[in-house]
Amino acid sequence: MTGEDYPRVRVDGIGRRYDSPQGTVQALQDVSFDVETGEFVCIVGPSGSGKTTLFRIIAGLESPTSGTVSLDGDPVEGPGPNLGLVFQEYHLFPWRTVSGNVGFGLERQDVGAAERQRRVDELLDLVGLDDFADSYPRDLSGGMKQRVALARALAVDPELLLMDEPFGAVDAQTKRMLQAELLDIWAETGKTILFVTHDVDEAITLADRVIVMGTEPGHVREHVEIDIDRPRSRSSARFGEYYERILDLIQS
Ligand code: ADP
Repeated sequence: MTGEDYPRVRVDGIGRRYDSPQGTVQALQDVSFDVETGEFVCIVGPSGSGKTTLFRIIAGLESPTSGTVSLDGDPVEGPGPNLGLVFQEYHLFPWRTVSGNVGFGLERQDVGAAERQRRVDELLDLVGLDDFADSYPRDLSGGMKQRVALARALAVDPELLLMDEPFGAVDAQTKRMLQAELLDIWAETGKTILFVTHDVDEAITLADRVIVMGTEPGHVREHVEIDIDRPRSRSSARFGEYYERILDLIQS
């Protein structure tokens, strides 16, 4: 097999058990799937189906008790420049400006000041925050903070953008705007995106494919390809059919 035959992400036989004096919880059991380069995949599932645990394992923040995760054929061994992470809680550095936040990963890679500035400007333009380069996170709305977090994640040009409920903390209108912007950025950059959400409507709006998880133990129930042209209308009959189907899978 040559390197080019590997999928961007391969999740292979992942299991995660938590042992405690109160007993053992099998958070994930035998979870396997691939994500192809350029694909937009959403993971949905009820609370307790192991979404967060799976996210943390793919990000290399936590080890599985069995199985492996690989990125372009190489095992994931911890957060690195080939992964861009976006969390619900932004995790911005409050003492850094918007520019300083976006440029953080480039500084760590010793990218020179001029090149860093060029890249930061380009990213702020991409997320529509050119006018806020010198602002601090405390002066931004939730939606703007999440745009900064997205620009920061994209700065080092990661192979995979891994997002955990990134729009879970903003109001419904901002959420829709951010979804549309993310789709534009995805189209423009060709990034591979793996996006965890409990919001079925969001998953159908965004994804090429939705992976539906089930509980006890956390496992993959089904892969649902979303075959609707973008931009997608929530009021279309097809959208409604996917919605019912995925909701049924989650609730049954
Ligand atoms: P989801 O994100 O889908 O709600 P989680 O990954 O948070 O699911 O949790 C899956 C299961 O694993 C749950 O039963 C949860 O209680 C358990 N779990 C998650 N993290 C831990 C932990 N650190 N210690 C013990 N049990 C855990």
